[in-house]
Amino acid sequence: MPFDAASYEILKSEAFIGGQWVGADSGETQDVFNPASGETIGTVPFMGAAEATRAVEAAQAAFPSWKAMTPHERADILMAWHDLIHDYKQELADIMTAECGKPLDQSLGEVVYGASFIKWFAEEGKRVYGDTIPAKQRDRRLIVTKEAAGVTSAITPWNFPNACVTRKIAPALAAGCTQVLKPAPDTPYSATALAYLAQKAGLPDGVLNVVTGDAAPIGKVLTSHEAIRVMTFTGSTGVGKILAEQCGRHIIKASLELGGNAPFIIFDDADVEDAVSEVIASKFRNSGQTCVCANRILLQDGIFDRFAEAFSARVSAMKVGHGDDQHGVDIGPLINKAGYDKVARHVDDAVSKGAKVLAGGSPHELGGNFYQPTVLSDASKEMQLAHEETFGPVAALYRFATEEEAIMTAN
Ligand code: ADP
Repeated sequence: MPFDAASYEILKSEAFIGGQWVGADSGETQDVFNPASGETIGTVPFMGAAEATRAVEAAQAAFPSWKAMTPHERADILMAWHDLIHDYKQELADIMTAECGKPLDQSLGEVVYGASFIKWFAEEGKRVYGDTIPAKQRDRRLIVTKEAAGVTSAITPWNFPNACVTRKIAPALAAGCTQVLKPAPDTPYSATALAYLAQKAGLPDGVLNVVTGDAAPIGKVLTSHEAIRVMTFTGSTGVGKILAEQCGRHIIKASLELGGNAPFIIFDDADVEDAVSEVIASKFRNSGQTCVCANRILLQDGIFDRFAEAFSARVSAMKVGHGDDQHGVDIGPLINKAGYDKVARHVDDAVSKGAKVLAGGSPHELGGNFYQPTVLSDASKEMQLAHEETFGPVAALYRFATEEEAIMTAN
């Protein structure tokens, strides 16, 4: 059944600035797609620097009174928000699956743990203790008190469109800071829905603002406006470098969570079934589109063949499908054409350099952004997937003999 955006009360097609739901100054919008079907589910405003600046000003105006509240008062609002997220968890999960393709049970799981960040930080806000420091002089007393930094900015990715957003908003707000958030263009509705629920929970106007649109000019404002004190980003290393540099020029503290190429090391004495289950969980969650996902599976000689056989059998049996299929889907689509192309490029490159396909290895018959869950054997460091994050359902198996060799390769 096609996703019917109009039937979701919490799905907001406008940006959120100073407590108002607003469009772009130009009236321009950008489409939001369902990556499983390719259909457009709606639009959001295509904003730029002017709107981002207004959002920062709204956050600046809201800061003094938000900061003046006690942590307990702020925690009450944050907990009301947390509870509303639980009330609307099915709708939030439906929206997430529609805009990012994530299998529905994984989306539901994300909504719940995304809310848990709010609860945790609401509580931690009450424990922002200071320090007393023994002084050198008799007539001095040294006391450290922690103050809210001010306006913060957050730029988030599409792969965890709910939890990555709550994890950035909650600590800032709990500490008495205000925030301007720019969600990923692929998944803006999870963010606007969360903002809508925050407003419903009683969050004062301007404490949280969500700006959608043109990433570079918005990002520039969020890393250079004089009111911004801290910028937090999760995304690619390349964009992280740009943002860190922009922040550096303005002495804005930057907190970055970037990409990697995580190894998973399995020694001869491992239990094969356990190892297979753990690699499946790490590698194939969210179709391999997670920042902490294992990208290189390193296997010691003695276990290589047994693991490869059992692992390939499990991967071949995984169910690929639309995330909203009620019959238990393991693997959804890649987020977009660029994500799909990267996966196909990595597999083709590896095969051309001698990798053997043990499972999958081709586009999925569902077409579009779907790729078969894939296992490649005989992977080597010359292959692109040894150096780039694949961000897709491809597990490459590497062979090693000694622990020293494994550690060196891993690092
Ligand atoms: P991915 O490759 O996973 O999409 P990106 O790093 O490109 O990762 O995107 C993460 C977030 O960074 C998204 O919200 C995206 O819109 C934003 N972004 C991309 N380019 C810029 C930029 N030049 N300035 C600010 N934000 C950006």
